[in-house]
Amino acid sequence: MKAIRGATTVDSDNAEQIRERVSELLNEIKNRNAINCDDVECITFSSTDDIRSFYPAKAAREAGFFSCALFSAMEPKISGSLKMCIRVLMFADIEKKPVPVYLHGAAVLRKDLTQKINIAIDGPAGSGKSTISKIIAKKLDILCLDTGAMYRACALKCIKEGVDCADEESVCPIIEKINLEVKYSDGVQHTYLDGNDVSSEIRTPEISMAASTVSAHGCVREKMVELQRKIAAENSCVLDGRDIGTNVLPNAQYKFFLTASAEIRAKRRHEEILASGKNVHFNEVLAELVKRDEQDRKREVAPLIMAKDAVLVDSSNMSVEEVAEYIERKLQEKI
Ligand code: C5P
Repeated sequence: MKAIRGATTVDSDNAEQIRERVSELLNEIKNRNAINCDDVECITFSSTDDIRSFYPAKAAREAGFFSCALFSAMEPKISGSLKMCIRVLMFADIEKKPVPVYLHGAAVLRKDLTQKINIAIDGPAGSGKSTISKIIAKKLDILCLDTGAMYRACALKCIKEGVDCADEESVCPIIEKINLEVKYSDGVQHTYLDGNDVSSEIRTPEISMAASTVSAHGCVREKMVELQRKIAAENSCVLDGRDIGTNVLPNAQYKFFLTASAEIRAKRRHEEILASGKNVHFNEVLAELVKRDEQDRKREVAPLIMAKDAVLVDSSNMSVEEVAEYIERKLQEKI
């Protein structure tokens, strides 16, 4: 049995609006928590003393909650509290973590529950950002946004259009009109370019270098950052990138900067490439990584740099599990 919280407000003490808003709230709680009326054992309501024309419990019966116990009470009059507000506590037989629902301005009651959590994980290539971000996102049951994939898709678009990624004048009009989408399937990010899933196509050394070149242009960053901020505003998520903590979300609640020595990062990358069945010399991987880092660090717009309030994690001598545990511990200290 779980207790699911919710609240809504009305504009005036009007019976019809109370009925509508309560019905809407209960239906939202049902939908967002995937429950049936039969799974609900009991619903308690409390309303502020400026609501007198209709029992919220009556609206619940009318909304189809026939078999559960219902109870309505009036809240004490406390100065400064939200006016015209109806709160709900629904007890239901569900397995999953309850999703609270706050409608019509009632979210201010529980900013801690309703505000989106944004976790920035920045760092150089091969520092393990994407592996760690996925682990943390899975643990917290939130999305993971790999922002590098977006710059990779921009590079792929330019290459397909036959444009030199270094040539800002030719790149900008193409990126201005780019049809780039980020979608999720079972929590896994898929990057779409012109309607095609390019998630695998963008994972080549050529695209890595081209992404670093194209991402240095202000027009490209502006366009991608807008999309990244929109996703972060609408979803709790872990964002991995180079400039999340400094530029995309300078007010992110949690910021980490993941790094490791160039040799260790190149060794990890090299092992990944060999495991995927391709053959490449270690020195080649190291040289590409160092060149890309330098380009990312030295660019004028939003360079790769640690945010002042980020937690530095040097994973040179740490396993993936150790890094994930360390970050989880830091998150728990703040949450
Ligand atoms: O992280 P990933 O290696 O996929 O990123 C590819 C390139 O995209 C990076 O080398 C960097 O130049 C660029 N990038 C960026 N800002 C981000 C994420 C990636 O400039 N937030």
